[in-house]
Amino acid sequence: MSEDQMKLHWAPRVPRHKIRRLYENDASGIVDEELLDEVAYGLYARCQSILTVTEASEGRVRCPQCEQLIVRRDRGDKQEVVRCPACSWQITWGEYFKSYQHKQLHGGGAVDAFRAFVEQFPQARTSRAKMLLIDRLIHAVHWEMTQRPTRPAAVNLIEGTMQMVERLLEELAYGEQSTPGTQETRADWQRKMVVSRDIWSRGE
Ligand SMILES: [Zn+2]
Repeated sequence: MSEDQMKLHWAPRVPRHKIRRLYENDASGIVDEELLDEVAYGLYARCQSILTVTEASEGRVRCPQCEQLIVRRDRGDKQEVVRCPACSWQITWGEYFKSYQHKQLHGGGAVDAFRAFVEQFPQARTSRAKMLLIDRLIHAVHWEMTQRPTRPAAVNLIEGTMQMVERLLEELAYGEQSTPGTQETRADWQRKMVVSRDIWSRGE
């Protein structure tokens, strides 16, 4: 790996057990700020990586050294040298592509949900506000993923297969102490999932 390639850092997906524990705490009225921030900042970094990779795949590469936007000339050419006009950083598109390949970093149809989280999270001051944003994000993204059954590997935020993530969301803990709004998000998500399963099973 070249030095310029090493400047590309992509955030990993968030482990399922952390999401599970976060909801167990929330359902019991326990606020574990450390865990909440760990999950929230983990998702934030992951969303930023996804948005950066999605943009790059569409021809707009963000320089990892100085943030300058570099527009690629030819989208298909792996030999093309992507060079930052503002600093010395450069890489071939092939090397850049390899840095994110097989890491489920393409935002697909859920780009709006990732973008909303990145925009809104810095303004979230209370633990409830953070919890609500996390809750909305993971349900929205999973929902978008299920709308594209041709890309089953595209589970972007949480570790595991699509089935594992779906089971995790089904089994999340809720209770009287849960952050207001989370149970509504879940009910809405379940309703949409049932409709979508019906449509797929009818083969429409
Ligand atoms: Zn640069």
